[in-house]
Amino acid sequence: MVTSPLCSAGLTVPSCELVVLFHSANSRYAYTPPMNRRQFLHLFKRAAVGTVGAQVASSGRFSRLLAGPKSQGPVQQTKSGRPQVAITMDDPSVDIGPFLTWQEANRRLLACFAQRKLNVALFICGMRVDRPEGQKLLSEWDKAGHLLCNHSYSHLSFNGPKVTYERFAADFTRNEPVILPYSHRTPLFRYPALKEGDTTEKRDGFRALLKEHGYRNGYVTIDASDWYVDDRMQARLTKDSNAAKEPYRDYLVAHLLDRATFYRQLALDTLGHEIPHTLLVHYRPLEALFLADVMSAFERAGWEWISADKAFEDPVFLREPQTLPAGESLVWALAEESGRFKNRLRYPGEDDVYENPKMNALGL
Ligand SMILES: [Zn+2]
Repeated sequence: MVTSPLCSAGLTVPSCELVVLFHSANSRYAYTPPMNRRQFLHLFKRAAVGTVGAQVASSGRFSRLLAGPKSQGPVQQTKSGRPQVAITMDDPSVDIGPFLTWQEANRRLLACFAQRKLNVALFICGMRVDRPEGQKLLSEWDKAGHLLCNHSYSHLSFNGPKVTYERFAADFTRNEPVILPYSHRTPLFRYPALKEGDTTEKRDGFRALLKEHGYRNGYVTIDASDWYVDDRMQARLTKDSNAAKEPYRDYLVAHLLDRATFYRQLALDTLGHEIPHTLLVHYRPLEALFLADVMSAFERAGWEWISADKAFEDPVFLREPQTLPAGESLVWALAEESGRFKNRLRYPGEDDVYENPKMNALGL
């Protein structure tokens, strides 16, 4: 593998197909700034989607996660030298619209992970699964060895001024019985919309509550707006049930690779070393149909998939950035806290407003 000094901190990291796409021959190993809209559209058109076989196998073990991180030092590079990323999937639901059943979504997604011998972290919002059918949905993930984690019961935004600490804490507690029956229940909490509180009191109060309950933050490092791409695909299919789904697949692949490149570089520049990443995707028809293509594209771009329990062992996931409003990607928050990257950070880190004009331009 070709290695290149991508990082401004001077570390040697692998070259990446995505980076090479935007550089001429004599500058291909230079730092890649965030893409502008034109560059993104170019990538979208070139996003190659295939079915490269996976060679990555996980050595992660569920029990190690519960024991917590063992060392405080930076994570060691793998033998391959590839950047590592785990999948975290939010909001499984028994109702994901008229175009796909949850049974089919489960079948496709679980096959994706089984093929690579990976476990992923599933963040469960009780209101979407709190019925007998939902228990069947979750049981299939539990039997396959995935991590079943708390994503609150009602998906309230903790940054909303009307969502008090007491209300948010009660909603967290209300979700506990939903995930309690499963053997792979894991004490990781993911804040809805990655919003961790708009005041110091709310932010620190809930962080203390998580610790009291033996919980840790199920941080996202690579944030994205995959849910919005699915919204757009479903809207198109509602108008025209024969509309092609592949352009939405290609947009999803390009978008996730673009965000992975951005947050990896931001992590390198903020921390000075690689971290295992956690990618956010949602339990939606688009992901159920095309996550296999996403995973193959990441592999071709130089990434290595790892199990979620292994990723969350890294001590970076114990960090608690002192930002307000709190939240966003962990990498975003650490960069914001450092005060060194104001020109590279937008707020919110990810949202539909950033994808809307690009998808309009593509007629999606
Ligand atoms: Zn969610």
